[in-house]
Amino acid sequence: MTSIGSGKPQLACSFCGKRADEVTQLVEGPGVQICDGCVELCNEAVEEARGAAQGGSDGSELPRPWELRGFLDGYVIGQDTAKRALCVAVYNHYKRVRRAAALGAAGVELAKSNILLLGPTGSGKTLLTQSLARVLDVPYVAVDATGLTEAGYVGEDVDSILSKLLHAAGNDPRKAETGIVYLDEVDKLARSPQSATGGRDVSGEGVQQALLKILEGTVVTLSSGDRGAQAVRGRGYQSREPVRIDTSGILFIAAGAFSGLEEIVTKRQSRGSMGFGGALVPEDRPDRTGAAGVTPADLVKFGLIPEFIGRFPVITALRKLDRDDLLRILTEPRDAPVKQYQALFELDGVQLEFEPEALEVIADEAIRRETGARGLRGILEESLIPTMYDIPSLRDVVRVTVTPDVVTDGAEPVFTLEEAGGARRAASGG
Ligand code: ADP
Repeated sequence: MTSIGSGKPQLACSFCGKRADEVTQLVEGPGVQICDGCVELCNEAVEEARGAAQGGSDGSELPRPWELRGFLDGYVIGQDTAKRALCVAVYNHYKRVRRAAALGAAGVELAKSNILLLGPTGSGKTLLTQSLARVLDVPYVAVDATGLTEAGYVGEDVDSILSKLLHAAGNDPRKAETGIVYLDEVDKLARSPQSATGGRDVSGEGVQQALLKILEGTVVTLSSGDRGAQAVRGRGYQSREPVRIDTSGILFIAAGAFSGLEEIVTKRQSRGSMGFGGALVPEDRPDRTGAAGVTPADLVKFGLIPEFIGRFPVITALRKLDRDDLLRILTEPRDAPVKQYQALFELDGVQLEFEPEALEVIADEAIRRETGARGLRGILEESLIPTMYDIPSLRDVVRVTVTPDVVTDGAEPVFTLEEAGGARRAASGG
């Protein structure tokens, strides 16, 4: 290829037709020429296509796994193994979706990477998924699998999931097609008597079957007459036209406590102690055998059908949160419960403090209730209600210090008064 100057008026750009003397530069290839202006245009087009393949349709960059991880760390304590697996799977999923949008049918078909999360209640499964949807700014819907029924039965059929997602997407079908569906309690769809959770036998299996297509990727038509579309219309959906939703770009994250699964895994494995409570999922140690050594065969034994499990190529586990985690959850996340109550008290001009031992007894109580981190907020609320009732009328109080007996015995916290600067128990007069 030769670059020629503007001194050859007989040559013209093969793209725009401008003669060599009309352009700054004309580049000559075998039998063709291109001017500098068209080179620039081509560059722009190539950059645009590259941007569409790597970023969103709006040109936004897809956050890298480590960036997603950084965001999650601000809200979710611990669960490193699950965070890592989720960030990679979610990144790959959206890379695939964006690539498909940019290239259409061209290129290698990339497999869908739906995710199965195993972990006890209150360990952060929903929080992780919700946080990911938030950082990615995609529509999100959480559905309880136990409420689903096969088509033709009373209850919500699987298409209703898409109706809800459509609603979450502001009734924009294209946006809904990039959303995240969180399917909770899928372990309850198990049919096996070995499931300690008491499976739903045949109907649970029927729901698994009914989910297969949308998990895999199919086009579902939500007609104006079906139950799903009615649900959407009920929330303000205007059109009576059927809505077509392609589910191949929708990321399904299924979750469940799968209690009883440890025994199945332990039985299969000859050595090593297993359990969601730590040994099963060692923190900070990427697990090489799938989620905590759980194999698809274990999940089949648990009662899920192989085709259903096959739709979840990524399986990862969250571990039971321990006392240290719970203590951190109370204060560290950006929206930590303690920070939220402090902000509430601040609105009344009162500083809220917790003695370290008070936080410890809150964590201990949450462990006793066996609801993971879910119980923390409730325990705090119970402990603080009497104080929150009184504080708006206690005008001279500038600081409230929560001591352990406030949590354990419902004692009054220590109130620090503005003028005296001293502390007193409100109940003891002062
Ligand atoms: P799961 O879905 O595993 O049952 P959730 O994600 O719904 O549990 O957790 C319930 C609540 O407990 C969350 O809203 C959050 O406040 C808190 N929580 C649970 N796990 C964590 C965690 N790992 N880090 C921070 N907060 C957590």
